[in-house]
Amino acid sequence: MLQKCKEELEGLGLRMKFPAKGADLSTRYCSAYLKIMVGATAIAHSSETKANCKILMVSGERRGESLNRSRYNECEIHGMNAEIRNRRTVHVFRPIIDWSLSDVWEKIRRFRIQPCPTYEIFNRCSCAICVFNSPSHWASVKLIYPNLFQQVVDAEKELGFTLGDMLPCLKAGASQIIGDRNLSPPWRLYPSLVFFRLRYVFQS
Ligand code: SF4
Repeated sequence: MLQKCKEELEGLGLRMKFPAKGADLSTRYCSAYLKIMVGATAIAHSSETKANCKILMVSGERRGESLNRSRYNECEIHGMNAEIRNRRTVHVFRPIIDWSLSDVWEKIRRFRIQPCPTYEIFNRCSCAICVFNSPSHWASVKLIYPNLFQQVVDAEKELGFTLGDMLPCLKAGASQIIGDRNLSPPWRLYPSLVFFRLRYVFQS
């Protein structure tokens, strides 16, 4: 599996390292290549957005989420703005930039919004094998996606790098070290119920 991935990646150029856990997108390349550049390419090449249009990108980052996000602007010009060359105006608007987490949940309750079911279990929802995963997230990945989890362990061995010092569990061979003590409270209280709920949410 890794060999096949390696061959495919060699054609594209490969780093043989996990994305770095930092704000710099040139080293945390997953965000750049899997999200930002995908969106940028879609804007640049879609017939509706290529030229002669105005786009407002609305996103839900909050300054309270991290030091990096504390520096975000509420409104700004997007990197794909190309008014002179393509007559394409692109703005970013972050309407909940100064909300707290409890503000978000208060609005969800008040307007009876159904949140993503992932938030029944996790306080954070992003790529399943995110480089920022905590040990409890990895424990959950191991239960829900054992094959994916094993691929990360195999990749660590093959690359000779771990995902970071925060995850000695993977460094030492996750299967022995990740255990119930790393699971978040719902897992510990109702492991079978939560497991079936997650199976339903993620695999149905
Ligand atoms: S969610 Fe995590 S793994 Fe996914 S792109 Fe962002 S930083 Fe990378």
